[in-house]
Amino acid sequence: MVDVVEIERTDSRSSAPPRKTWERAEAEALYNLPFADLMFQAQGIHRANFNPNHVETASLLSIKTGGCPEDCGYCSQSAHYDTGLKATRLMPRDEVVAVAQRAKDAGASRFCMAAAWRSPKDRDLDQVCDMVSAVKRLGMETCVTLGMLTPKQAERLSDAGLDFYNHNVDTSPEFYDKIITTRTLQDRIDTLAHVRDAGIKVCCGGIIGMGEMVEDRLGMLVLLANLPSPPESVPINLWNEVKGVPVNETAERPDPIALARLVATARILMPNSVVRLSAGRQYMTDELQALCFLAGANSIFIGDVLLTTKNPQRDRDADLLDRLGITSRLA
Ligand code: SF4
Repeated sequence: MVDVVEIERTDSRSSAPPRKTWERAEAEALYNLPFADLMFQAQGIHRANFNPNHVETASLLSIKTGGCPEDCGYCSQSAHYDTGLKATRLMPRDEVVAVAQRAKDAGASRFCMAAAWRSPKDRDLDQVCDMVSAVKRLGMETCVTLGMLTPKQAERLSDAGLDFYNHNVDTSPEFYDKIITTRTLQDRIDTLAHVRDAGIKVCCGGIIGMGEMVEDRLGMLVLLANLPSPPESVPINLWNEVKGVPVNETAERPDPIALARLVATARILMPNSVVRLSAGRQYMTDELQALCFLAGANSIFIGDVLLTTKNPQRDRDADLLDRLGITSRLA
């Protein structure tokens, strides 16, 4: 069954003129343009809204790994699957701050902290708020991903100074329940609304290569673009091979050109959002990453590991960005 997603389109906090509501057919028409025409449009929009020769660098730390009660079919941290991952407790604040300092020294401008929870308990949130405030004091932007939040919890994170909350929709409404059954897409939309209402910026995207159709990928982008305010950050993840999870049965690595088309379409649908090449970048050639930057991607995760999966080495990233003349904090 497909989730019916209720999205309130009126943003009462904004006096800006109403935004365009994207239809799935419009996204498909863009995506299917001749490649040069699609890239030209995406580049034009990218240049109108961003420095095309700059990428943002973020670093991601798992502050509480594994043992998650959700059944996300791609995830090594779900307790539903035998992935061989050892669950850990919430990291102490000082250890987190030490990792954040090293990430800053290595060139990261944003520090993202992820905990494998369905939703945080209030006593856990106390500790996470403490971490957020401490990492902010290092002069970094902060992001956390903790699962579903109540309005009150979102307010507490806002009071701690949190800049971004990550909560991905993962895929299209049609494909969603083939991947996750323990929480609905509407649950996720509700958490995103609480985050917005608390004045925190939204980081929200999804994963491709899990066996979904191109229409599902575009459906996900349309869903994001039509939120009351599109996410400020849109992570696009390539599915990473993980032992023991059900997505292994359906996963298929996307055609590189299809990925570049998807990034370009995301750029056109969400002109002001930062589009991040997230998990799975180790599978991408330098040439494909360059094509994605040209299509409008302007953020990457740096560091050797993303939560539990591999990521390109810092030196490879620095070398690639240097060859492309792209500035970042890695330089
Ligand atoms: S909620 Fe997050 S940590 Fe838990 S199974 Fe899903 S993706 Fe993994």
